[in-house]
Amino acid sequence: MPHTHHPQWERRKSWVEVPDGSDFPIQNLPFGVFWAPDRGHRAGVAIGRQILDLGELATLGYFADPPLPDPKVFHRESLNAFLALGRQWQRRARATAGRLLDENTAQLRDNAEHRRRALVDQSEAEMRLPVEIGDYVDFYSSLEHAANVGKMFRPGNPLLPNWKHLPIGYHGRCSSIVAGGADVRRPRGQINPSGDEPEFAPTRKLDFELEVGFIVGKGSSLGAPIPVEEAADHIFGLVLVNDWSARDIQQWEYQPLGPFLGKSFATSISPWIVTLDALEPFRAEGPEQDPRPLPYLRTGGKRNLDVELSVWLQPETEPHGLEVCRSNFRHIYWSMEQQLAHLTSNGANVRVGDLCASGTVSGPAPGAYGSMLEITWNGTAPVRFPAGAERAFLEDGDRVTMRGFAQRGSVRIGFGDLSARVLPPAA
Ligand code: MN
Repeated sequence: MPHTHHPQWERRKSWVEVPDGSDFPIQNLPFGVFWAPDRGHRAGVAIGRQILDLGELATLGYFADPPLPDPKVFHRESLNAFLALGRQWQRRARATAGRLLDENTAQLRDNAEHRRRALVDQSEAEMRLPVEIGDYVDFYSSLEHAANVGKMFRPGNPLLPNWKHLPIGYHGRCSSIVAGGADVRRPRGQINPSGDEPEFAPTRKLDFELEVGFIVGKGSSLGAPIPVEEAADHIFGLVLVNDWSARDIQQWEYQPLGPFLGKSFATSISPWIVTLDALEPFRAEGPEQDPRPLPYLRTGGKRNLDVELSVWLQPETEPHGLEVCRSNFRHIYWSMEQQLAHLTSNGANVRVGDLCASGTVSGPAPGAYGSMLEITWNGTAPVRFPAGAERAFLEDGDRVTMRGFAQRGSVRIGFGDLSARVLPPAA
């Protein structure tokens, strides 16, 4: 692990301008895939308002010693081939980017032609899905979220008896996972609000779920479970996830097999993958686990990450958004490592690029609820906006923005905004 607690870490600076409060200082260096008209698809690393084009760096010979096993690995439409090169190359690429961007390294800093070719303004690039996601699991690992939902729908029995023994999850849909700012269309589906007769209609209870996901950076073999103490080796990095949900569709369909069309219409992820290496300095204690998990789920030490999370909601008619949630990833009950150990405990394998989302990250305080379902308590306590709008659930034209960052001193390891607008149902 990098020695990032050292004050030296905090003082490190890039020759590329990084505005105060930027999510992307030299200590972060998250990976993404962008497209630009003159370049096509490229892998890149975010620095301030710029992108360091790894494909161009490779072309310019900056990955010559040792040579990249595949010289075109940063020219692909996803990071999968790069991730498949293994942790050593994942770390080497990030370290090379860090070295070249360091204020004390002249190599790129003082070469105007190379600098022009290697840096792209983020405003001139389109962010794409960073990985091709072959499998997607959505967990349900926040105790507060599970208890809140349980209280609403099963008042006598809020937390089901299995919940504290295993990380509950379900397999989600990959084809509808979208990157960053893509707008999301209100889905239609079967709903049965009165309980008498179902109808097919646009959802009236469109919701967001504030989640953090991890991207698998090292696959496993079918039949070989990942031990919990090795699980971190399989996690490349983290993204913010908005697990859009249609609560009325979900409520009518979810028994007995769980979520289906109420979830599968869209899932948004932030386009920059913040590496687990960048977040290691922010390890934090998780909530106490009582009863003690079974041996295959037991971990020692700090199993969580201290990442501040927030959700901003802005109706079209409001001049400003409101922060409707402020939570923290450290509240999560089941850690990423426990999720991965559980997911593979039956011998199921994972592949590079797989996405596992945490489940809604609600915290203990009412201001820390990560879905409208909880914030408005199933619509009974609407959110009121300064210019008069009221929201029980999401309306067409609403913009939902999620943010996440870990901070020490002036250094912020952030994810960038995950922001999308709700479109009316298709005609
Ligand atoms: Mn979810």
